[in-house]
Amino acid sequence: MANYDYDMGIIGGGAGGLTVASGAAQLGAKTLLIEKEKELGGDCLHYGCVPSKTLIKTAHVYHQMKIAPTYGLPEVAPPPVDFREVSRRIRSVVAAIQEHDSEERFCALGVKVEFGQAQFADSHSLSINGRTYTAKNWVIATGSSAAIPPIDGLSRTPFITNREIFYLERLPASMIVLGGGPIGIEMAQAFNRLGSHITVIQRGDQILAREDKDMADTVMETMRREGVDFRLSTAVVGTKDLGAEREVTIRDANGGISTIRGETLLVALGRKPNTDGLGLEAIGVELGRQGVKVDNRLRTTHKHIYAVGDVNGGFQFTHAAGYEGGIAVSNAIFHLPRKTDYTFLPWCTYTDPELASIGMNEKTAADKGIDYSIWTEAFSSNDRSLAEGESTGKIKLILNEKEKPIGVQILGPGAGNLISEWVAALNGKVKLSTIAAAVHPYPTIAEINKKVAGNFFSPKIFSDKVRKGLKFFFQLKGRACGQA
Ligand SMILES: Cc1cc2nc3c(=O)[nH]c(=O)nc-3n(C[C@H](O)[C@H](O)[C@H](O)COP(=O)(O)OP(=O)(O)OC[C@H]3O[C@@H](n4cnc5c(N)ncnc54)[C@H](O)[C@@H]3O)c2cc1C
Repeated sequence: MANYDYDMGIIGGGAGGLTVASGAAQLGAKTLLIEKEKELGGDCLHYGCVPSKTLIKTAHVYHQMKIAPTYGLPEVAPPPVDFREVSRRIRSVVAAIQEHDSEERFCALGVKVEFGQAQFADSHSLSINGRTYTAKNWVIATGSSAAIPPIDGLSRTPFITNREIFYLERLPASMIVLGGGPIGIEMAQAFNRLGSHITVIQRGDQILAREDKDMADTVMETMRREGVDFRLSTAVVGTKDLGAEREVTIRDANGGISTIRGETLLVALGRKPNTDGLGLEAIGVELGRQGVKVDNRLRTTHKHIYAVGDVNGGFQFTHAAGYEGGIAVSNAIFHLPRKTDYTFLPWCTYTDPELASIGMNEKTAADKGIDYSIWTEAFSSNDRSLAEGESTGKIKLILNEKEKPIGVQILGPGAGNLISEWVAALNGKVKLSTIAAAVHPYPTIAEINKKVAGNFFSPKIFSDKVRKGLKFFFQLKGRACGQA
């Protein structure tokens, strides 16, 4: 049997790679982790989830200051935002979390960390910094980067992506956002709230294309009321650098051509897998359009090389990368064949209101030909939401033909947290009647979960049939008010 330097080699020290590294090392596997940046943590920590959620909170506070009178408070006119201070806060939150993802912490777990750009020499060996390391198993966890499509003039026009946006020197007076996906939309709302004039250009006829249109449209209408300019069904024809401003030429749904100008151009048009320079083609690892091709055990064309996280082009979330990291560890270290199952993978877009989802929505249920039914409850009927002044949105529960829950979408305050009850319920196959009967504390926004489940049972319990039966058996006297 070949004698390798390591049991497990991992390329990429982000959400997926770090999960594999800590899991493998703690199980006793001799583990090597390779990262090309100066620090561990990946996109999520440095250019993704953490800075974006920190920025969103800052923008939320500033927005609350501006809408103080809606809470019965005196009107205040806060001074303009100094973005260097916002960036400073972002950096401090990133630095605090970085400590959990430090080289020292992983070394203490038993992981050898190497920094540098790695390239496969053969399917078991990898060269980095002039040295070659061999490993029995490899995990590719190199993540993704902003996709830069071949738009006419874009290569000559200064633009920013998620790598630059959190660390700007000043707040742009105006920003054109190319792309109406989660990243573009979260940034559009946050920067608009901080004081930039925002225009979002989206090719499709709704933002957040993966979501049901009614939910996505409510997000858009909320943002529109706050001042964001949306151009839907609009194609980007080209871009131009005008010195102090960027110009974007667009074509609307009727074929009309016009231009928009903005100080800053944000490209948020999807992601591309980070596979350049790894030498994957040379060692025969097959690549697809979305990323490294994997089977349902996350194995590439070489069964001892796995690909987890954004790089395999599947669900591009931190928790998906972590989940996949665990699957790779099970398969490679435990030798327990474990397959991926994304049936109840939740996600959330952190706009205000947030839009969270688990399981099927109406779009996916309809695509699968499921004869579904929908049960809803509006946040405007939730006492706590009214007290909080956050009553936009609703919860949507989707049942299949057998009246079993197959999905939930929540558009409302703290939806990302509220969906967790459904994460437990759907994964644990908890009966809807249990959720409807379980006592939830009052007044909480989470009561909406119980309420929507109750909405399914109400027409059955309070039906004419039940009323007649009770009247017959127990001689109930019926209505006391409104009767002649
Ligand atoms: C603006 C933004 C906001 C986001 N918000 C959320 C959110 O709220 N919730 C959520 O779940 N997800 C969010 N995401 C997505 C999330 O960041 C990714 O899904 C997650 O980081 C994927 O983890 P990963 O391990 O696959 O990749 P990463 O975390 O990016 O890690 C990949 C690592 O590999 C390294 N690497 C790349 N190439 C090489 C190489 N050749 N050699 C060595 N190392 C290499 C990289 O430097 C990086 O450290 C957001 C993304 C963005 C851009």
